[in-house]
Amino acid sequence: CRASRGSHVTRVGKDDLPIHGVAEVLVGVLGGGQLGRMLCQAASQMAIKVMVLDPQENCPASKLAYHHMVGSFDDSATVQEFAKRCGVLTVEIEHVDVETLEKLELQGVDCQPKASTIRIIQDKYLQKVHFSQHDIPLPEFMQIDDLEGAKRAGDLFGYPLMIKSKRLAYDGRGNAVAKSEDELSSAVTALGGFDRGLYVEKWAPFVKELAVIVARGRDNSILCYPAVETIHKENICHIVKAPANMSWKIRELATDIASRAVSSLEGAGVFAVELFLTKDDQILLNEVAPRPHNSGHHTIESCYTSQYEQHLRAVVGLPLGDPSMKTPAAIMYNLLGEDEGEPGFHLAHQLIARALCIPGATVHWYDKPEMRKQRKMGHITIVGPSVGNVEKLLDSMLNEESSESQ
Ligand code: ATP
Ligand code: MG
Ligand code: MG
Repeated sequence: CRASRGSHVTRVGKDDLPIHGVAEVLVGVLGGGQLGRMLCQAASQMAIKVMVLDPQENCPASKLAYHHMVGSFDDSATVQEFAKRCGVLTVEIEHVDVETLEKLELQGVDCQPKASTIRIIQDKYLQKVHFSQHDIPLPEFMQIDDLEGAKRAGDLFGYPLMIKSKRLAYDGRGNAVAKSEDELSSAVTALGGFDRGLYVEKWAPFVKELAVIVARGRDNSILCYPAVETIHKENICHIVKAPANMSWKIRELATDIASRAVSSLEGAGVFAVELFLTKDDQILLNEVAPRPHNSGHHTIESCYTSQYEQHLRAVVGLPLGDPSMKTPAAIMYNLLGEDEGEPGFHLAHQLIARALCIPGATVHWYDKPEMRKQRKMGHITIVGPSVGNVEKLLDSMLNEESSESQ
């Protein structure tokens, strides 16, 4: 029926699909987390069929996808089997089996963005080497293989020193800060030791963190979303303000660096470029994600084309949509998981109840099977006439909650 959902369809092949959407191609997404879920939401509006590959049976995208194949996006045979069923393959997470993607590309499978891009990005050290070769400004960095090397880096870059694991990092899991030489050893241990593959970055004394979502079409056309300010707490994105409050000159610089960084990579899709703004008005690149990103959630309500719709347009070869804001301002607040407890008493649920009464607020809940501390469970976006206005509304939502719990 018109309202039926694909999740009920359990065994489908490329050839037996009735495709009636705006693009005659089945989009395969490696990963079925919240980003995959929001891709499915955007796809449903255009009747584009999205299949997701995720090991978790009830992952956030599973109920909204046209089809959910249960399996690992890091397993070669599974990725190959999945790819056979899709017209175009894309990702909502970069920690996928890239060797298999490279092999599949040689066999003619259409991966967007390209496997070469995923390979560069999934190794943060390789990413830094790549961007420095393309003259993108970055914090200084250096590979470390043992404690002596870490000490040499500390002597060179000073403290605090940021130690990062090269691979499998997200939400700050993979970062450790050494405030002095004495803390090097414990920071390395906290990251799982040198065998994990580590490198260090000079501390970036930023005054603000910014992000720019850059979209690239299959014809290599590039469009940038307005730069936003991201506020992190314990290395996890906490709040996003759109647009970022800064001078025209800084905005141009941030957008130019983001667009140059993405131009150095291959393939279509949206890319998120995380940046540091220093007090002497320098912009340094932190990292790039080759997919929709937390800093672009607000685009669902605040832009003419959301980052999710844009990603689909880009990978299937439709014209890119207008990335500009249709509302003057937006603020996004991540609902993070707390310790286990009575679900009804979670702060997140109280905040949702408040948000439902705020004009301009939209609640997103990812329907994750279980709540875990610091896990991204949902988010709230508030749009309004100015950043000051939406900041006030968010403040009232958060403070109303805290006065109630006292
Ligand atoms: P994400 O969830 O964005 O993928 P991640 O685990 O890849 O996060 P990073 O983006 O490398 O982690 O770092 C997380 C946060 O740590 C940054 O947003 C920033 O607040 C801080 N940070 C990272 N690198 C540096 C640095 N060189 N100097 C100072 N702070 C840093
Ligand atoms: Mg990252
Ligand atoms: Mg980051």
